[in-house]
Amino acid sequence: MIDGIYSRLKNEQVRRAVEIQSAIRMEMKRFLHERGFVEIPPVIISPLTDPLRHETYEAHINYYGHRYSLTKSMIFHKQLALLSLNKIFSFSPNIRLEPLERRETGRHLAEFTQLDLEIRDATREDVMSLVEDMLVHILSSLRKKYDVEAGVPKKPFERITFAEVYRRYGEDFETLLSKEKKEPFWIIDMPIHSREFYDYEYKPGVLRDMDLIYPMGFGEAASGGEREHQYERIVDRIRRGGYHLEDFSIYLEFAKRGLPSSAGIGIGIERLTRYVCSLDSVEDATLFPKVIGEFSI
Ligand code: ASP
Ligand code: MG
Repeated sequence: MIDGIYSRLKNEQVRRAVEIQSAIRMEMKRFLHERGFVEIPPVIISPLTDPLRHETYEAHINYYGHRYSLTKSMIFHKQLALLSLNKIFSFSPNIRLEPLERRETGRHLAEFTQLDLEIRDATREDVMSLVEDMLVHILSSLRKKYDVEAGVPKKPFERITFAEVYRRYGEDFETLLSKEKKEPFWIIDMPIHSREFYDYEYKPGVLRDMDLIYPMGFGEAASGGEREHQYERIVDRIRRGGYHLEDFSIYLEFAKRGLPSSAGIGIGIERLTRYVCSLDSVEDATLFPKVIGEFSI
């Protein structure tokens, strides 16, 4: 185990990826500050975190009789932060204790960081356009200094509905389409059963949300959407999602008092680094990867 970690720490491809990732983070910050965003520190433990739509092992801490969860995503804190500020972002460490099936995807680690951003009163389109501008900015800046593998993408990125890709490609649409495309693209309008309850249902069973997908087989980059923010609608979505209202009692207390309408997205930093540097796996985008199912430091 120590031999493997020791040689990773001396690996040139990993070193370069980590250096480029540092530049990516700096360009993200620069871009978002220029657009009027305020960075908020990440939340690491809280009684409130993303339930996620897929199963992960629970990561809890008991502290003076209270149960905290390690953050799976800051979605609810993003909504709450907009009571104070209009445009926020955070480099949010997420702990998702994924099952072994996700070991070989090249896209999953048990600990990763996402650039999580949220904008008050924004639409999905506002967020997609912002992310497109940000990726153009990041890639153009990086290419001045590094000979990176990914090119500068062209705006606007293609938008394809979930219904359309599912009809054309079936279950495995994301992998197939990602391999076929040469530029990043959006899949929009996810069906309700495939997502968490906080994305806005704008017609029965269809959400006003999106995934950003990288081309050349690199797969999912980011998920986001417009949000449910009205108390009654949130209660309805929790129930229909098959969750227990008691598990979200704290969040519901806030929702009862009023949440702002918003839209946002979470962009995986290691995945972006993998795409930019054309790495086999996100494992090579960080010095201390928490590889699923393996003991790591
Ligand atoms: N909740 C999403 C995730 O962490 C990101 C977002 O919708 O903002 O996967
Ligand atoms: Mg996602």
